Amino acid sequence: MNISRRIALAGWSLLAAAANGCTDDEPPSPAPATCEDLVGWASSEGVSITSASEVPAGVDGAQSFPAHCAVSGEIDARQGVDGQRYAIGFELRLPRDEYAERLFFQGGGGTDGVLNPAYGDLVNAAQGNALLRGYAVVSTDGGHATGVMDVRFGLDPQARLDYGYNAVGRVTVVAKGLIEAFYGKAPRRSYFVGCSNGGRQAMVAASRFADQFDGILAIDPGFNLPKAALAQAWDTQQLMTAAAPGQLPRDAFPAAAITAVADAVLSRCDGLDGLADGIVHDTAGCQDVFELDADVPTCSGPDATACLSTAQKGALAGIFGGAKAGSGESLYATFPWDPGIAGGGWRFWKIDAGFAPLPLNTLVGAGALGYVFSTPPDQPDLADGGLAYQLGLDLDAAAASIVATDGLFTESAMEFMTPPDPTRLATLKDRGGKLIVVHGSADPVFSSDDSVAWYRALLAEDAAAASYAQLFLVPQMNHCEGGPATERFDMLPVLEGWVEDGVAPGPVESGVDPANPDVLARGWPSTRTRPLCPYPAYARASASAADSEDGGTFACDTGAGEPATTAEARR
Ligand code: CA
Repeated sequence: MNISRRIALAGWSLLAAAANGCTDDEPPSPAPATCEDLVGWASSEGVSITSASEVPAGVDGAQSFPAHCAVSGEIDARQGVDGQRYAIGFELRLPRDEYAERLFFQGGGGTDGVLNPAYGDLVNAAQGNALLRGYAVVSTDGGHATGVMDVRFGLDPQARLDYGYNAVGRVTVVAKGLIEAFYGKAPRRSYFVGCSNGGRQAMVAASRFADQFDGILAIDPGFNLPKAALAQAWDTQQLMTAAAPGQLPRDAFPAAAITAVADAVLSRCDGLDGLADGIVHDTAGCQDVFELDADVPTCSGPDATACLSTAQKGALAGIFGGAKAGSGESLYATFPWDPGIAGGGWRFWKIDAGFAPLPLNTLVGAGALGYVFSTPPDQPDLADGGLAYQLGLDLDAAAASIVATDGLFTESAMEFMTPPDPTRLATLKDRGGKLIVVHGSADPVFSSDDSVAWYRALLAEDAAAASYAQLFLVPQMNHCEGGPATERFDMLPVLEGWVEDGVAPGPVESGVDPANPDVLARGWPSTRTRPLCPYPAYARASASAADSEDGGTFACDTGAGEPATTAEARR
């Protein structure tokens, strides 16, 4: 038990003693607290509980929830070097009945800055949330309450560290203390689940805070996020090479142009998995056979359709080939060719956010790089949404800036944003912890190739790594969700089964969201299912597959030509 935790529990014990009228010298047992009593908990360790109240069962938008105790608080409130007030905000929801004795840390998103309701977002599950499943759920604002997409917190060094890793570390310990106070015992198991920046937090937790978590689920993780921010600037520079004067990426790349590429990928690769069903399951095999130049017609005139101009091809080849330094050295991962690029989510992030005439990768990525990841902070003018900053960025200088430190910013962005030693997860392994990484192969923000590279490096470092870490690719899924894909699946019970019952993940059934516009546009039935397979396996149709809408006709193939049994897929 660390010192701060001991102080925290001592502080609670004194409260409990006063409430119980105890006056003798016997240390009181930690009697379960009432919800309201938690307001007085542990103020001595920099923790301030600002509210604690009973919430009856109800509904909040799409989320329903059981009766619970909702606790809000702050940790380490302080004034930053920029004169702003900072604190690590958190929200903890404690179910009253059918408590599963488990903690669920709900990861954040983007540049954080908001306290999302801690219902326990399951990201890809068709319905429900962790709170309904009996978990105590906690969330954090990442150490700054500035609101969505306000990146000025990057001017304060500690706020950078809180966003990178410290908020997760601090909030986890406090949440466990509050749980112990409320229920009279610590959680039996602790899980971290997040997507995007929350997936990055999950990867960081697997490395920095493996002693705190039993199961970790990282979805479309912003692994190497500062490098991804360089790639976002690279993408903008590439897209604009195909733009006429006055045009933006959305003008240079109308939806039909991207659809032409997606259709060509599909035409070339759909059958590689044994069935032309509109899904390329053999993503790796597709990279070996698809050629942009040869497989997509080059437009012969301004009115040609289902084709790309030479300039458009050059830009897309640059993007999918990965960001490069002036020397030609890779600055970020490649992106796989995948028909999911025709999805609305791909366009939203990569080409046109819709609510503004720029991609979200510009609207979010420029500010994150210019204020949070560069040292010293570039502090660009973002009045134009970040377009000019990305277009004018010297990528060589920016690549140096994300690994730079100075007298004020003593940890570089790559140090505070990424797992310290991502291919050495000995703490997680030795305590029996498990990590599942899920990545959509048409994620336009963080490349699934980056997750594949990490996983292959992990296996190279530790041949037994699959016994505690597994990667699942979701063909054609966009960022966290969406795309023409079977992107509805429930990975939490898979992780629970692995952690608590020792059942290694096998094929995981996935289905479609019948309201997903990318599915509706393709006329897929709402009953379509496919197995998600542990990497490097992928779903392959059996030779006798007669019903393309039955996921049972697919099996996980290791890529060696032999359909894998479940046991083989687990290895
Ligand atoms: Ca197929």
